[in-house]
Amino acid sequence: MKTISVRVNAEAAGAIRAGQPVIPKDSVRDMSVFGAEGTLLRLEDPNGKYVATGYHGQQNKGAGWVLSRNEQETIDREFFTRKIREAADRRKSFFENPDTTAFRVFNGEGDGIGGMTIDHYEGHWMVSWYSEGIYSMRQYVYESLKEMPGVLSVHEKKLFDLKGRYMEQDDFVSGKQPEFPLIVKENGMNFAVDLNDGAMTGIFLDQRDVRKAIRDEYAEGRSVLNTFSYTGAFSVAAAIGGASGTVSVDLAKRSLPKTIEQFAVNGIDYEAQDIVVMDVFDYFRYARRKEMEFDLVVLDPPSFARSKKRTFSAAKDYANLLEDVLAITAKGGIVVASTNHAGFGMKKFRTFIDKAFKASGRKYRILKEYRLPEDFRTPRNSPESDYLKVAVIKADS
Ligand code: SAH
Repeated sequence: MKTISVRVNAEAAGAIRAGQPVIPKDSVRDMSVFGAEGTLLRLEDPNGKYVATGYHGQQNKGAGWVLSRNEQETIDREFFTRKIREAADRRKSFFENPDTTAFRVFNGEGDGIGGMTIDHYEGHWMVSWYSEGIYSMRQYVYESLKEMPGVLSVHEKKLFDLKGRYMEQDDFVSGKQPEFPLIVKENGMNFAVDLNDGAMTGIFLDQRDVRKAIRDEYAEGRSVLNTFSYTGAFSVAAAIGGASGTVSVDLAKRSLPKTIEQFAVNGIDYEAQDIVVMDVFDYFRYARRKEMEFDLVVLDPPSFARSKKRTFSAAKDYANLLEDVLAITAKGGIVVASTNHAGFGMKKFRTFIDKAFKASGRKYRILKEYRLPEDFRTPRNSPESDYLKVAVIKADS
């Protein structure tokens, strides 16, 4: 593979030496010095001294990723095999746990190669590619997976389409394709997934601990509203945990059959649960008019969303959204407030929560906070990698 030398500015050199995995776009004056996507980079400081070895792959996060800080290390098939092996070894307890068969095996920069992740679904492995650059190295990964024990099939998601849109594609790579939906287990719950059906699989694995907490600690006897519900995974956890009822609200038409399916594979009578295909903002208005109140509300919006009527950005609009939620949350109720926006941290998130409660004139206590689960390993010195923030909040008054 082609390697070119690139001098980055002093600030970037210092940050990378301190452990930052991303190569910032503004570390050079002109990005063309990085060459074509997938080019290996010998990164040097302004004095020409070696800093790290990386590759060029453009993402919103940066211009590429650091692969090694050892000048002697070569980036080849063995490098990828070693990194994937080490990552799998770290998840030994997941591989051995029969109650949870869906988890992340390789978490990008947290396991030493930014721009790609690998998830395990009941023996079927899914590789997600976040830039053209890393995708150009896919054979290294696919050859490495051939040597891993217990890989029944490999699927892939190309998430770097230039127009920022997911292109319909055949996601099958190799092995023996399972029949979809594939039923995976998570802490004893069942979830239906499809590895060959658009950008998402039917479940977000990073919310595993939160689903468990809802089931085990917060749902019993409570009426539950699940907003931005997607396939209703939080509703399933709540129903299993003894919720008195669940309402799942999502704008996407497909959420209806997908949510029915998630209830059904858990033996829950879905007709006893409400599944509403509607804009969440319209639902808030409807629920207020009907003077509805819920004992537990899950709020897990996308970081950015655009519908016909409005655009939403978690960084700008979270407090307002939470205020809408509080208007239909019972006294003593619980709000599970979640965001996967990488652009702000837990501290900032708490200020949004505080703002919403103040504006509503209500008192609250944060009972517990959740971050990424153990299999979503993140590097130190990379706050954006640690994107998930969840607060379980008791709305006291
Ligand atoms: N909370 C879900 C994941 C949410 S993914 C889970 O843990 O499984 C984001 C979802 O928000 C998508 O399903 C999308 O259809 C939905 N969505 C986006 N904008 C919306 C809106 N204005 N009203 C309702 N749903 C919306």
